[in-house]
Amino acid sequence: MVIIGAGECGTRAAFALREMGYDGTVTLVGAEAHLPYERPPLSKAAMVAPDTPSIKAISDAARLSEHRIDLLCAISATSIDRANRSIRLSDGLDLDYDKLLVATGAVPRKLPLPGLGARCVYLRTFDDALAIRAHLRQGSHVAIIGGGFIGLELAASARKLGAEVTVVEAQPRILMRGVPEEIATVILEAHAAEGVDIVCGDGIAAIDDNGTNVRIGLSSGRLVAVDLVIIGIGAMPVTALAETAGLTLNNGIAVDAQLRTSDPNVFAAGDCCSFPLAIYDGRRVRLEAWRSAQEHGALAARNMLGADEAHASVPWFWSDQYGLTLQIAGLPDEGENTVRRDLDDGAFILFHLKQDGRLVAASGVGPGNAVARDIRLAEMLIARSAQPDIDALAAPSIKLKSLLAA
Ligand code: FAD
Ligand code: NAP
Repeated sequence: MVIIGAGECGTRAAFALREMGYDGTVTLVGAEAHLPYERPPLSKAAMVAPDTPSIKAISDAARLSEHRIDLLCAISATSIDRANRSIRLSDGLDLDYDKLLVATGAVPRKLPLPGLGARCVYLRTFDDALAIRAHLRQGSHVAIIGGGFIGLELAASARKLGAEVTVVEAQPRILMRGVPEEIATVILEAHAAEGVDIVCGDGIAAIDDNGTNVRIGLSSGRLVAVDLVIIGIGAMPVTALAETAGLTLNNGIAVDAQLRTSDPNVFAAGDCCSFPLAIYDGRRVRLEAWRSAQEHGALAARNMLGADEAHASVPWFWSDQYGLTLQIAGLPDEGENTVRRDLDDGAFILFHLKQDGRLVAASGVGPGNAVARDIRLAEMLIARSAQPDIDALAAPSIKLKSLLAA
């Protein structure tokens, strides 16, 4: 079993193969020079650490070796020879496989403008986080391009470290894609209260990076001078290997519900693939979320061993900014009606329903873990295609657990 990509998904797949009792060789090929590590802390806890950020490893070397997982660190797969079932590595060696998993993840979308230099950076890896952290301190001024998750989590971290922050988002509001406006407004207000300057509906006309500081010209004519520009304008699936190998692409590497590519011996999983979501009648999606990368890894491993199991889980992700946590289960854009449930301390949940009353998503925001339990229960209702009573959904005195029982 060979896995390309030692990220969240690939690493989970390697361990899952062993948990399933697979006794043969498991090789995990990782382009990065580090042991597999968690990315979510890079924009949050690791970024605000008082000293140099440290890696949160998914697994240490001892555990990998205990599970007989051969990790090839700082080595990339450069091609896939499907006819001979082998891959070529950047050190020139070839590696044969019976089943191959491509879990190559995603990389930041590049801002297509001239004038970007060393002071214009992206965040995806631990090394990127180290480089950014070095510039965030009292008195520095950073501009963040993109009011999505990377941009807003970094804005919160930068404020915590005392830096001045300007966020520029091209859309009319932040978190336009996938987050309902009522929830985005709570997040926007938190940033405003912390002194972040958020500019929406404005583009970047020009950037002049002289290596020490950067001048940004906005489409509206406004000029912003900063020490560092962080670009967080989305992520692109890493598909070059798959494309050259002739695998079918469709918003990433196209896989079926079992995470099989167009070649039955090659699977793809995590941020790099798009797959049909059963709970939305087979709608093809590509998710960029931590839990789904883990679930994909485990499912791909089972299917590499012949389980033939279809993906069945509900998408879920979270974001932490200041003391607030936002959580979303399901895809809110599937909903046609919304019901609001107010919880303590200003927290609330929006339930997104189809016209026929079927619950298809739930999104919530509040301090700490305020929305976690209800979102978890909503997720179970979504998985069951439940049509819960809308008055009960709106009434915080009625426990969601009782709706589950019903
Ligand atoms: P990745 O984690 O990107 O791993 C892919 C790995 O494959 C990389 O290490 C890459 O170097 C390697 N690779 C690529 N090509 C090759 C090759 N040819 N040969 C060998 N290796 C290769 N999600 C949430 O739900 N909540 C969060 O709060 C959250 N926070 C995040 C914060 C940050 C800063 C980032 C960047 C992401 C965050 N995410 C969050 C998203 C989550 O981390 C990703 O969805 C998850 O990491 C995807 O896992 P993956 O294994 O598919 O891809
Ligand atoms: P994102 O959430 O897709 O947000 C990018 C934002 O930038 C979008 O609002 C996008 O608008 C906007 N944008 C695009 N081009 C722009 C431009 N030229 N000028 C200004 N704004 C522009 O992606 P991201 O925040 O960059 O995150 C990257 C990856 O990290 C994703 O995989 C994400 O899932 C992951 N991540 C996740 C979390 C989390 O889940 N908590 C946290 C951090 C990172 P459009 O919609 O118009 O493109």
